[in-house]
Amino acid sequence: MTAIIDGRALARALSAETAAAVAALGESHGIVPGLAVVQVGDDPASQVYVARKVAETVRVGMRSIEHRLDANTGEAELLALIAALNADPLIHGILVQLPLPPQIDAGRVLDTIDPAKDVDGFHPVNVGRLSTGTGGLVPCTPLGCMKLLDTVIDDYYGLAAVVIGKSNIVGKPVAMLLLERECTVTVTHIATRGLADIVRGADIVVVAAGSPRLVRGDWIKPGAVVIDVGITRMTDADGRQRLVGDVAFDEIGHARAATPVPGGVGPMTIACLLSNTARAALLSVS
Ligand code: NAD
Repeated sequence: MTAIIDGRALARALSAETAAAVAALGESHGIVPGLAVVQVGDDPASQVYVARKVAETVRVGMRSIEHRLDANTGEAELLALIAALNADPLIHGILVQLPLPPQIDAGRVLDTIDPAKDVDGFHPVNVGRLSTGTGGLVPCTPLGCMKLLDTVIDDYYGLAAVVIGKSNIVGKPVAMLLLERECTVTVTHIATRGLADIVRGADIVVVAAGSPRLVRGDWIKPGAVVIDVGITRMTDADGRQRLVGDVAFDEIGHARAATPVPGGVGPMTIACLLSNTARAALLSVS
């Protein structure tokens, strides 16, 4: 029987730890970590994510500062806002909600964030630190994947890990984190040949493709651990909306453990964002 890795429970536990760290920072240094969230335009999905981030930030005792900019905002105006947030000592984390409108170069914006406040871990300095194993802020979803894996794996040494998807926000950083743990990592993507056979050799499978039910039961080695990052919104025949992962969950009863969708990786992402913000605030005074 596959053990279900409960992302909601783990996210609650991590947020409780963050709340304790925030309270301790207040007592020791008199500071309240501040997270600035910048949203440009009114993309409905982004609005839902931002609302959730704001609510959770406040719940753990941190300050949430929201900047909602008009969809026509120019790049120079956004860069000026980032510069002001970089200079503000009351702000410890800066998050720019993606996607940005087409007139703005997202790469340039992310490069402008002070790496010490880059709680999404997307700045090239933090990417470089991750790939050289020298600290830095780690992207939230990959960090959440590792915390989920840690609940079922004690010793990663020599395990074969296959990552499906090579995006900068999930696939590549999760591969770096698995390498750091001494796994033998294979990163696969849309152009990979013989994907099923590659996955069949894996002790750990992390899927972040955005392709519903891509990973079938006969791809999974008995006893493997499966982390499903994929989220696709689908409408049932009766018109109900539901979230679907990248793994055919009903076919992987022979896996040792797996994350469900929803309730697996998703809840961990915001919990890791808060944890990163508390860490950035702590580093700012140490
Ligand atoms: P992306 O589109 O940037 O990258 C997808 C990657 O998967 C690419 O490297 C592509 O080559 C690969 N891929 C796509 N289809 C494939 C296939 N059929 N076979 C093999 N490889 C394939 O996406 P992303 O931003 O990395 O997100 C991936 C998925 O994870 C999406 O469903 C997204 O919604 C989800 N996601 C979830 C969270 C969370 O908090 N749970 C966070 C980020 C992303």
